[in-house]
Amino acid sequence: MQRQSLVIANWKMNGSRHLVKQLANTLRNAPEVLADVTVAVCPPAVLLAAWQSEVFYDQVHLGAQDVNENASGAHTGEHSLALVAEAGAEYVLIGHSERRQFYGDTEQRIQAKVESALAATEPKFKVVLCVGESEQEREAEQTMQVVQAQLESALQNVTSAKMAQVVIAYEPVWAIGTGKTASPAQAQEVHAFIRQWLQQKYDAAGTSVPLLYGGSVKAENAETLFAEADIDGGLIGGASLEPEAFLAICRAAQ
Ligand code: PEP
Repeated sequence: MQRQSLVIANWKMNGSRHLVKQLANTLRNAPEVLADVTVAVCPPAVLLAAWQSEVFYDQVHLGAQDVNENASGAHTGEHSLALVAEAGAEYVLIGHSERRQFYGDTEQRIQAKVESALAATEPKFKVVLCVGESEQEREAEQTMQVVQAQLESALQNVTSAKMAQVVIAYEPVWAIGTGKTASPAQAQEVHAFIRQWLQQKYDAAGTSVPLLYGGSVKAENAETLFAEADIDGGLIGGASLEPEAFLAICRAAQ
């Protein structure tokens, strides 16, 4: 089945208003790429408003890097779905490995965040669920087990109808920000496993879910990764801070 290619920038705790303008200009000058590839940018939440004044909504989408599972209340420092929606976010990353490792995103919390995001109606968010194994887990040959457990937990109450709003990003922890990239064959093996799991649970709806690879994707390796059958695009950290490199990655997804 033909799935639309998707490339998402994750700026993490980087960027500036200046970089918003630079990347927006670079993308604006490449309408032929944006016509073929869905591109979304997840800046720090405080820069969403700066992006909002730049875009060209139908061409570049905005996303939040995380969201609180509660609707409002005493959660100092957190952002609700309604707040990020007001700032223009249509996508939300959930379960990024940095949040799992350092900021208390347990499986239970990730499940709650996924369910809250999928329950929202204004807008109907696209949920980008991040999964992936650590180096130790890969060495112990537990990759598929770990990924399966993360999928089972986060999606346990998600119905087939809701899967139209879900994207899965496979991000091996050992490849994130390390310069070590999974080989196309390694990434494809896990993507094929995820696809099979999705199809078993959701039938046809599982076939339509975009599967992104993330972990040190660069202009130089994007094309071979994206050429794999079950890799529909990428979640891009470091290289998304360099407009030309990010554009080259988007081109590789065409
Ligand atoms: C990420 O943060 O999701 C990521 C994949 O980072 P990097 O591309 O820098 O490895």
